[in-house]
Amino acid sequence: MTPDKLVRPEVLAMSAYPVADAAGMVKLDAMENPYPLPAALQRQLAERLASVALNRYPEPNPRALRELIMRKMRVPAGMALLLGNGSDDLIQILTLALARPGAALMYPSPTFVMYGMNAAISRMRAVPVPLREDFSFDADAFVARMREEQPALVFLAYPNNPTGVLYPEADVLRVIEAAPGVVVLDEAYHVFAGRTFMDHLPRHRNLLVLRTVSKLGLAGIRLGYLAGAPEWIGELNKVRQVYNVNVLTQAAATFMLEHLEVLEAQAAEIRAERAKLHGALSAMQGLTVFPSAANFFLLRVPDAARSYQALARQGVLVRNLHPGLANCLRVTVGTPDENRILLNALKEAL
Ligand SMILES: *Cc1c(COP(=O)(O)O)cnc(C)c1O
Repeated sequence: MTPDKLVRPEVLAMSAYPVADAAGMVKLDAMENPYPLPAALQRQLAERLASVALNRYPEPNPRALRELIMRKMRVPAGMALLLGNGSDDLIQILTLALARPGAALMYPSPTFVMYGMNAAISRMRAVPVPLREDFSFDADAFVARMREEQPALVFLAYPNNPTGVLYPEADVLRVIEAAPGVVVLDEAYHVFAGRTFMDHLPRHRNLLVLRTVSKLGLAGIRLGYLAGAPEWIGELNKVRQVYNVNVLTQAAATFMLEHLEVLEAQAAEIRAERAKLHGALSAMQGLTVFPSAANFFLLRVPDAARSYQALARQGVLVRNLHPGLANCLRVTVGTPDENRILLNALKEAL
């Protein structure tokens, strides 16, 4: 018996999430914070981690860490928090929990590929609704489509990946108010956007705010959190794998949240570099750069495959989004040195 006879057709039709080999490259493909921790902080973190009891199971729903996140990230009082092994884990929990037969998952498209992948894995009906040509959000079209499809779950990436566009607050509110089900605002890039719907949670019981510490500088520890009304979090918590956040992640996250100002200062540097990089990219002939509220830019080039290869040959790794997004590359904002290397390499790559 071969897999194609037994594996579910939705799974056979999927591709595994592509991750390129980055050894020796200037790594501008995954929206990581390029700055390491200061050496003194690294030593203190090492001490903290050395005292972790690796022989014991993790606390399954760590109260102290949840309370620390709620305080540091300004989650409104009365709301609850669910922790995940990255926000990818929480996206999967949401789709598994809401996948009643026929239930729809709706999202503007193009967007983060994990929404569609998890719809397939959970057997939800994926309903992508096209963004406008310039990647702005057509709220009228989206609300009309919600009326037809009655989605159980809506994902809005705020700002969107891979476009960098931050939808107008009024449009997002229209979706929240018109939605027949849950609306998840995926705020993976909130430190770069400076905008959030966290404050809106108490007024909208069908709203959930999804965050991750990945883009803030902790992609390696895998921690995401979902904030919302306790009645929702309580149901979703039943789907969570009991020990989904390991002891090292819990300890490292606690330590880093106690020193959050270090990561926030790095994010401020990245925002300043974003402005400089946008200026330099806009001045370049032969490419279009889209404005971004995140720590990356979407570029349209004449030939994405050729540019991707030419950048790779010069030691610069970016993300090729073609053919899904015609002739588009996504580049992460790096350090000043990395951005200089990118700009020079691009001159030879168009
Ligand atoms: C990067 C990204 C995530 C993934 O976050 P992890 O916590 O690293 O799993 C989620 N949503 C969007 C929109 C992203 O761009």
